Amino acid sequence: MKKIFNVLMLVCAVVFTTNTLAQEPAKAKPKKFHGNPDYYLEVQGMHLFRNADKGLDEFPPMVNASTARKLALFSLDALHHDTRYDNSEAMREFCNSRMEKVVAEVRKPVKKGVKIFRVYNEGFVAKTKSVTIAFDLVRGTYLSRYKQFLGTDYRIVTDEQMEAIIEQCDVMFLSHNHTDHIDRWVVDKFIAAGKPVIAQSEILPNVEGVSHWRNEEGIYDSELVLKSGEKLQVKIFPGYQRQILNNVPVITTPEKYTVCHTGDQHDRKSTADWIATVKDNAPKIDALIINCWTNDILKTLKGFDARYVFTAHENEMGHTIDHREAYWLTFDKLKTTEYPFVVMSWGEWFLVK
Ligand SMILES: [Zn+2]
Ligand SMILES: [Zn+2]
Repeated sequence: MKKIFNVLMLVCAVVFTTNTLAQEPAKAKPKKFHGNPDYYLEVQGMHLFRNADKGLDEFPPMVNASTARKLALFSLDALHHDTRYDNSEAMREFCNSRMEKVVAEVRKPVKKGVKIFRVYNEGFVAKTKSVTIAFDLVRGTYLSRYKQFLGTDYRIVTDEQMEAIIEQCDVMFLSHNHTDHIDRWVVDKFIAAGKPVIAQSEILPNVEGVSHWRNEEGIYDSELVLKSGEKLQVKIFPGYQRQILNNVPVITTPEKYTVCHTGDQHDRKSTADWIATVKDNAPKIDALIINCWTNDILKTLKGFDARYVFTAHENEMGHTIDHREAYWLTFDKLKTTEYPFVVMSWGEWFLVK
């Protein structure tokens, strides 16, 4: 009798436990797609993000991108233009994976050439054997109006990842005073480490440690001595994003590699004059990093006359989707250019030899 009672107790315990788990639908995922369209999209997004991440590794940045690489980039366009994925688990996993890769790569020495890293948005790093130069590094976030239901202040690059990148850099150049280009937290890290921050005059005007280099009449021409003792030759062109000052530095490293970053250059008047003459007033540019939506990009590229073009600002998540810009749109805009160009996602790099 006692034995039967014990068996009954065990059966009751199992049934009770099973029911308790089944009564927690808030935590449990739906079991099937039929009738659960959000769950379906969530799982599909996870597969697409993971496959894009893998695709970028298997088909790394290249001139004349292959169809396979374009497929990875265009999948990301679709995902980054669907706000349901903003700050989703799948998106966070993708960002984390890309940033961990860039953190690992930027730590490796560069023996020859200049390695161009795209971190996020127009946050780029150019590294040679002797110097590492940062541009507009930001941790990035999503457009606040889409964030109300997310309940977090998630950033695309984590503090730890950004700190690891900053640690490798010798200097940062800031183009203009917009929050998708200036991250005060990042600036303070550079200042605290005694690394120069070179900006135009509207950016953090009274902050010690930020140097304001700009010549409204023409080129600001200077030499920058880094903490390491290495020297950079710097020419800053006086660009604009409409009414906002936008510095366009052309920087030559000790190995004689020259890199240019255009920030958010977008101004019809200046395109008509100084841009057309950059090629005559600066060393030959090896790597031009240019905002993909600058006005008349084909004409602008002729003014810089660079060996390699790297497009920037695609899929800025702080913008509404109509101005997030897509990788496919960049390929479309540049289909007739004679300049070799490389379109990179976040957390990718390309060595210019
Ligand atoms: Zn911008
Ligand atoms: Zn801007």
